[in-house]
Amino acid sequence: MRIVVQKFGGTSVANLECMRKVMEKNKKILDQGIKLVVVLSAMSGETNRLLGLARQWSKNPDPWETDALVATGEQVSVALFAMLLKDNGIRARSLLGHQAEILTDCSAGRARILGINSERIMEYLEKHDVLVVAGFQGCDIRQRITTLGRGGSDTSAVAMAAALKAEMCEIFTDVDGVYTTDPNICPKARKIPRITYDEMLEMASMGAKVLQIRSVQFAKKYQVPVHVRSTFSDEPGTIVTKEEEGMEEAMVSSIAYDKDQARVTLMDVYDEPGVAANIFAPISDADIVVDMIVQNPSREGRTDMTFTVPRGDLDPTLKILERIKTEIGAPAVVHDAHVSKVSIIGVGMRNHSGVAAMAFTSLKNEGINILMISTSEIKISILLDEKYTELAVRTLHETFGLDRSDAT
Ligand code: ADP
Ligand code: ASP
Ligand code: MG
Repeated sequence: MRIVVQKFGGTSVANLECMRKVMEKNKKILDQGIKLVVVLSAMSGETNRLLGLARQWSKNPDPWETDALVATGEQVSVALFAMLLKDNGIRARSLLGHQAEILTDCSAGRARILGINSERIMEYLEKHDVLVVAGFQGCDIRQRITTLGRGGSDTSAVAMAAALKAEMCEIFTDVDGVYTTDPNICPKARKIPRITYDEMLEMASMGAKVLQIRSVQFAKKYQVPVHVRSTFSDEPGTIVTKEEEGMEEAMVSSIAYDKDQARVTLMDVYDEPGVAANIFAPISDADIVVDMIVQNPSREGRTDMTFTVPRGDLDPTLKILERIKTEIGAPAVVHDAHVSKVSIIGVGMRNHSGVAAMAFTSLKNEGINILMISTSEIKISILLDEKYTELAVRTLHETFGLDRSDAT
């Protein structure tokens, strides 16, 4: 049986007219005698609306009930879409996460897929031409509904494609591919026709939300060919694939940004063995992922420790620090929730020097102050005031010659 997985994001299922466009995309595959698994997101804006309701109802919404609540967004879109397909004579049915037997671990709000009952899906595919599966959700071993983190429908789709050994996983969205940077903030961004899993992984982990990180990890692990393309045009998009001979190793291939950042500084902590462990162990125990860390040189046995966390984790981080403040000798904790991280990515950076200097000079010329820097072999990340994000992205995009010459 030939199978293709197609995933459509929130803007692609925003209303009836959009859903009709989705159906046209489905028909092109069905006409070739191929069976389809269509993974849908909630209608655009719906997940945010539901999260807003949770915050109205509770100061500290229960994570399991929050998952049960936000998962309804996808329930609505799959039911409506399956209805539309059936009205058009297509043999279809909807499946929620637990009906598709998408088993996840037990972490509410950021669950990981552990397995999918592919035999059950194959049985359904014998009787139907299209299975409309709710993205972003699964079910844990205790029968609780779980969600996979923002953008999680991408991961549902790629995991489904891997489990079913589908020919292709097409990710339909509101842009027609993966660009050198977010085309919505940089009109001169260029579409990348083919990109390696590793480069896409780096872009996604630096904030390029066109694909959720976990979806790229799945795609790489199971060698799922992924095609990112637009619901609203027939243009070919971007193929995410394994490294092929002749693929360019550009010094800088893309610029990504992440506004979901907050910076915390612990002033004048003791500079002695164990202090960093005492700070970061309880933060990690609370499942908070610390990103950049900078420790200043010691002054009379004291130092400052600065680090970043996702913005949504700032409050719990501050609560933990309040608890351990005396133990680590920190008289003051300061924080800033209006920072963002801009990253310069390129596999070819390994063999070139001077990328950092070029980046810093171009930011200086725009009067942008750098708050923190971190580097790896193939990327440089710079923390800056959130209000400079777009300017910094466009400036760096131009500095590294990524601009499309014909765009204005
Ligand atoms: P969907 O709802 O379809 O999942 P998302 O909003 O999650 O769509 O992802 C698509 C968005 O990703 C685009 O509208 C674009 O603003 C953003 N984006 C960020 N970086 C990139 C990039 N490098 N290439 C393409 N899109 C990007
Ligand atoms: N609806 C979820 C979100 O808004 C999942 C997704 O769209 O991928 O994050
Ligand atoms: Mg998305």
